[in-house]
Amino acid sequence: MSSSAGLPGFNTRAIHAGQDPDPATGDVVVPLHLATTFKQDGVGGLRGGYEYARSANPTRTALQEALAALEQGRTGLAFASGLAAEDTLLRTVCEPGSHVVLGGDAYGGTFRLISRVASRWGVEHTPADLNDVDALRAAIRPSTRVVWCETPTNPLLNVADIALVAEVAHEAGALLVVDNTFASPYLQQPLTLGADVVVHSTTKYLGGHSDVVGGALVVGDDADLAEQLAYHQNAMGAVSGPLSDWLVLRGIKTLGVRMDRHQANAARVAEFLLAHDAVASVRYPGLPDHPGHDIAAKQMSGFGGMLSFRVAGGEEAALRVCERSQLFTLAESLGGVESLIEHPARMTHASAAGSPLEVPGDLVRLSVGIEDADDLLADLEQALA
Ligand SMILES: *Cc1c(COP(=O)(O)O)cnc(C)c1O
Repeated sequence: MSSSAGLPGFNTRAIHAGQDPDPATGDVVVPLHLATTFKQDGVGGLRGGYEYARSANPTRTALQEALAALEQGRTGLAFASGLAAEDTLLRTVCEPGSHVVLGGDAYGGTFRLISRVASRWGVEHTPADLNDVDALRAAIRPSTRVVWCETPTNPLLNVADIALVAEVAHEAGALLVVDNTFASPYLQQPLTLGADVVVHSTTKYLGGHSDVVGGALVVGDDADLAEQLAYHQNAMGAVSGPLSDWLVLRGIKTLGVRMDRHQANAARVAEFLLAHDAVASVRYPGLPDHPGHDIAAKQMSGFGGMLSFRVAGGEEAALRVCERSQLFTLAESLGGVESLIEHPARMTHASAAGSPLEVPGDLVRLSVGIEDADDLLADLEQALA
């Protein structure tokens, strides 16, 4: 990926932003700072602004600077999980009576947070198809504070036009929040397309090794919003711990090379599935007949490592494919180096059953890892046989 607007290139930022060698020791890797409190040189005499580790910790500072640099935002904030980040964001920008428009098939946990938790505090919501501008406009009310957009979506890989949705949200005085977990900042930088805040589950591609749960918010130009979110990060306390921060920082350094392999493998898997008799349809934005292909090609620099497909034999057959795969491990989550398979209707999206966000029972989702593609195809072949 090339550099933009005078910034160093993406991979250079991933390895260096916020991660200068330690001034005292020369450590080339940001140290894991475990201290909960920091010595003051006289009352209020803080060294580097550090006082108490919920408020700020040097390892977290490094991660936050790296995240902001990758998304081309002004402020990055790290949290204990993606949902902790989302909760802090919603409780910062909404109040009782506020309304959220939530795009199509949002992540099940996001839908649960908004529909079952935030609703108890008087926050209302309307699901809408973000690809249908009239439907989006119709869903927006005077009290709409947030349009929540995930693109590509989980698990149907629908693609929304971020610039267009930003325009409609802003016309109505609402903020556009983009959950960029699936694409990662390597493939898509929503703040540059008009989004106000980017949300990440760093548990996924940013961490990249299935060994850390974390979340992040990155804010664009809005200094007041950035300040309020930073205030609430400390006041609400759902901060990430230093070991998590350190692991995400380590993951970020290889994000670019991992994503290149993830998407090369996903493209091979998509073509293989498309040609397979036991597969009814394949959802991958890189396929030319995917309904969001053109928008994805315009706003992303690649099509990512996630895909889903419908099994011709129906739900029972889909469950059998999940059980028979071996190299693709049957597990929730995504974005790690190892390939995963799951059944969204019974696993990640079970909480959306009976809601407008319910997903088909014959759908299987793959997080395509960075193993050798031939081995992945062989595993799917035997699982589908
Ligand atoms: C996993 C995920 C989340 C939630 O993040 P956690 O780290 O599990 O709390 C939010 N959005 C998407 C798209 C996700 O995949």
